[in-house]
Amino acid sequence: MSLADTAEAGVQRMPALPSLLAALTGPAGPAQRRALAKAITLLESSRADHRLLADALLDAVLPRSGAALRVGISGVPGVGKSTFVESLGLMLLERGHRVAVLAVDPSSQLSGGSILGDKTRMERLSVREEAFIRPSPAGHTLGGVAEKTREALLVCEAAGHDIVLVETVGVGQSETAVAGMTDCFVLMQLPNAGDELQAIKRGVMELADLVVINKADLDRDAATRAQAQITGSLRIAGQQGRGDPLRLAERWTPLVMPVSALDGQGLADFWAAVQRFAAQQQRTGAHAERRRRQNEAWMDERITAGLMQRFQAAAAVRAELPALRAAVLDGRMVASVAARRALDLYAAAGPPAAASPPP
Ligand code: GDP
Repeated sequence: MSLADTAEAGVQRMPALPSLLAALTGPAGPAQRRALAKAITLLESSRADHRLLADALLDAVLPRSGAALRVGISGVPGVGKSTFVESLGLMLLERGHRVAVLAVDPSSQLSGGSILGDKTRMERLSVREEAFIRPSPAGHTLGGVAEKTREALLVCEAAGHDIVLVETVGVGQSETAVAGMTDCFVLMQLPNAGDELQAIKRGVMELADLVVINKADLDRDAATRAQAQITGSLRIAGQQGRGDPLRLAERWTPLVMPVSALDGQGLADFWAAVQRFAAQQQRTGAHAERRRRQNEAWMDERITAGLMQRFQAAAAVRAELPALRAAVLDGRMVASVAARRALDLYAAAGPPAAASPPP
């Protein structure tokens, strides 16, 4: 049974929307956790009738969403993301927060697993009532996977989770997607500042609001050196005017701090820095502006993806596109001319019936 089938089987047992909503926004406890899990299963279903229900659910939860602090956490496999999220999550529970943990991992379909999918991970956090952990949704495209996680985030907020941690693997474009759905984006690094550091500098570093150097317990000197090196490179990036223009305008210089996810060292300092950042963003209006831009970008991205999907599904396009593509590849046709022909075919045929919303 594929993951999508599992999702659909779960939706078959879905309670009616009003009772699902009541349980979701009702008192914290096992019934709410079950409702939250079911609601996310509904969001992940690809069936058109489920999608209508899911959209109604999102409409209904919107007024109750948005209050959480959304924190993105990224880093290469093995850097210690799970360990960090679990230690941080447990610390936040002790402080009275309700923590939700979500993941974005577009590779999970290929590798057959997903981050957070392994039940042995985050054992101590996952058994806690006040925590909710959801593995990465399955999906073929990063956009699709990210969409489900963004929607799940809203539902977690409606269920009263006041901190949402979104974990992603530090490969490909998933960092950009997670930075685009969170209020604070944290990049995790290892103390061995070497080639790897050079590689991440090129793009992802500019997304970071905070950088943590994990496993500082293994080699404190190396962690201190990495801290200095990364701080220096961030300063240069800032001076060159790169990175998020909004954040630069607010003069937030990303902090770099050593931590040990394993023994908890530096976690309290880390969270204090997140809170300082969040307060500064609130004070300056950058928080609200960031969310507005994120929502706008999300909508545009989904329109683009939806149009592409409909275009590729149109019968006339499916019939002619391979020949047009071959002509371009063989040098018999100019690419822009071929693209216009294909678009004209789509426009003339109109969207296929299957792409229309069900009655
Ligand atoms: P992920 O792939 O980024 O989620 O990394 P994991 O959280 O699974 O951690 C990978 C390995 O590093 C595990 O064996 C952890 O126990 C170990 N690890 C994680 N954080 C630390 C740390 O702060 N110090 C040390 N010494 N080991 C750590």
